[in-house]
Amino acid sequence: MKKNGPELAEARRIEYLPGISTSTLGGLMSNLHILDHPLIQSKLTHLRNVETPNHNFRLLLEELTAFMVYEITRNYALREVEVETPLERTVGKILDVPVVLVPILRAGTGMLHGVLNLVPTAKVGHIGIYRDPKTLQPVEYYAKLPPELPEAQVILVDPMLATGGSAVAAVDIIKKRGGRKVQFLCLVAAPEGVETFSRAHPSVPIYAAALDRQLNEHGYILPGLGDAGDRIFGT
Ligand code: URA
Repeated sequence: MKKNGPELAEARRIEYLPGISTSTLGGLMSNLHILDHPLIQSKLTHLRNVETPNHNFRLLLEELTAFMVYEITRNYALREVEVETPLERTVGKILDVPVVLVPILRAGTGMLHGVLNLVPTAKVGHIGIYRDPKTLQPVEYYAKLPPELPEAQVILVDPMLATGGSAVAAVDIIKKRGGRKVQFLCLVAAPEGVETFSRAHPSVPIYAAALDRQLNEHGYILPGLGDAGDRIFGT
């Protein structure tokens, strides 16, 4: 049923609560998937805590990323291979798709080893983007992507989906270089970022541990976890 007026406002309020199941999301939010596994949610709470020191933050981010990757790789293609056990020959399954991992510099690199611990054969590209302080538009300053990109399953990672500008620009670059199958993995998303990203790249699913309330006037996510790069690197 089409909603309008106060009914729509209420629906949006409910949609923006963290930890909600994806089935309640509609419209531009529908390619957002909240990963609500209890271990993901409890580690996220420790990451949010201002008292968590940098070294624990890095470790938690890596562990949390691994749990999220476990979930988002669930439907990856497999192929059968023969394998010799100590007792006999049998048939097993291995991943049938090259995986390319692309962290957005710099905070995305905090998620790198969480993915590589589970998918050690993944190739790694890097994309560097900053926001021009005058135009507020994203500007690419670095992009090195592996040659497997066109046939690969690409996992783009950045802990915070705030305005969405960097993530949109990163997917633009990946698509321009031939990438076709892209998943975007972040920890915390803002409604503004989800909408901007979904409008620009409706076919790219977004996976997050939480959908937070809103951005503040400086572009930080509320309640969020602060500046992810600063908390990873102690800057
Ligand atoms: N980037 C961050 O690191 N934190 C935010 O809250 C928003 C963007």
